[in-house]
Amino acid sequence: MSDFFDRHDRRHAETRAEIRSLNQGVADGMLSAAELRQQVEALQRVVMQLVWAQVRGEPLALHEEPLRTWLGLPQGVTAEQALDRLRRSQAKVLGHSACPSCGAQVQDKEGITDEGCPWCGARLQTER
Ligand SMILES: [Zn+2]
Repeated sequence: MSDFFDRHDRRHAETRAEIRSLNQGVADGMLSAAELRQQVEALQRVVMQLVWAQVRGEPLALHEEPLRTWLGLPQGVTAEQALDRLRRSQAKVLGHSACPSCGAQVQDKEGITDEGCPWCGARLQTER
């Protein structure tokens, strides 16, 4: 009789685990859909700003919303800093140079002659 109850309890535990797993999957799916919707809405705001700037013949305000957040720039960043950050992040990687301070391999980017070491923060002077 005890064997029957053990099997019964095990089966119930398995069913509960399956339901938990299913609920978690649904919850994850709903969370992803909500996140996806937020990202699409953010992208729509960015596109609208691009179109609006184009229509007015004005330069893009990279340091203002919604572009600032979309580009991952900190609050209070100036237009010049935003442009510099964007230029550095988008530049083509030509190779690597050793950091003079910590020895880490730092990307040598096209058109950037003062690379920053992402590990120790030291500045490297590069030629290209
Ligand atoms: Zn370094």
